[in-house]
Amino acid sequence: MGSVLSRWPFFRQLIAGGDGTGAEAMSKETRALRPRLEGAQVARSVCPYCAVGCGQLVYHSEGKLVAIEGDPESPISRGRLCPKGADSYELLTHAGRETRVKYRRPFSTQWEEIDLERAMDMVAERVWETRERSFVEERDGLPLMQAPTMAHLGGATLDNEENYLIKKLFTAGLGMVAVSNQARI
Ligand code: SF4
Repeated sequence: MGSVLSRWPFFRQLIAGGDGTGAEAMSKETRALRPRLEGAQVARSVCPYCAVGCGQLVYHSEGKLVAIEGDPESPISRGRLCPKGADSYELLTHAGRETRVKYRRPFSTQWEEIDLERAMDMVAERVWETRERSFVEERDGLPLMQAPTMAHLGGATLDNEENYLIKKLFTAGLGMVAVSNQARI
């Protein structure tokens, strides 16, 4: 009888003296619930989707991503994330995420899978071939050292250090003059 009574919230409220919204109102199942992020470690990061740069708290446990939430201490976003940023957890975890390199040959209607090393070689060969074909060493008797047929557009997911290296490589190394970034929008 006692255990039956103790399952009755009103009885528990009488015994505990609460207002009916605290522990006295909890079922056994509710008491057994644990916080979703209990035991997880957290790292501060920045949403990679756009140029706003909202702050994120990245929760992880035993090498696995647990959750990504807005960072209340970010002066940019003060804990808020838009629907894209709030879903960035699935950038890593979604079952449909593409993890292999896909290549579609000129005039083909089919994608084929190639390995990353080959894909990187193909990109490097095309960049160098274009640069060799179009590089202008001088104009009107003056040094120019430009590759005017090439351009690079970076994305908001690039960080400061990557943008610095891109600018060094493409401008000083290859002679590109058109180097820009989506993050300026
Ligand atoms: S949360 Fe939304 S607004 Fe903020 S950086 Fe990400 S994509 Fe941009």
